[in-house]
Amino acid sequence: MRYPDHLQKLIEVLKRLPGVGNKSAERFAFHLLNWPASHLNELSNTIKEIKEKLKNCDTCGCLIDQSFCKFCDLERRNPSTLCVIASARDAFAIEQTRQYRGLYHVLGGLLSPMDNRGPEQLSLPRLLNRIVGGSIQEVIMAFDSTLEGDATALYIKKELNNHPIKISRLALGLPLGSSLDYVDEGTLARAFSGRGLF
Ligand SMILES: [Zn+2]
Repeated sequence: MRYPDHLQKLIEVLKRLPGVGNKSAERFAFHLLNWPASHLNELSNTIKEIKEKLKNCDTCGCLIDQSFCKFCDLERRNPSTLCVIASARDAFAIEQTRQYRGLYHVLGGLLSPMDNRGPEQLSLPRLLNRIVGGSIQEVIMAFDSTLEGDATALYIKKELNNHPIKISRLALGLPLGSSLDYVDEGTLARAFSGRGLF
């Protein structure tokens, strides 16, 4: 027998989350049916407020909840080093290692010809502007050790060829094919301190 329409709709919505298939979505949906109304309201309001309460910094692209960006705080951070990352989430993982006190730049993805994602789909032009016009002396690329990570790193290196900037890549110390998502804090910290010239 089919589920009632609204329950079926809830299951379909939950299936949009990464790693959630039919069975998990059904389990979550039936679990939610047992929640008190106050908890359901809290969940739906928190989700509704995502766009209003969180935004990406206009300069670095990191995720912030107020107009002041802690990742761009020049009083506390070293403005001569810039760490380039694919996703705003990576900045939090790197901050946890306490190995890095420089600035960040979020690309919003990695180059991928297969998915039609070129430099213009990422914030690569803005990155180059920041480097050329600023006080940056070292660029650290912290990408996954994947084909897309390699392609993006090579592109940036080529674009910065004529600038006297030290370029290093973090992923050299990470296992091949690994994603920053799955790398533990210790491994990431070691990769940072042992980063090699690229
Ligand atoms: Zn910022």
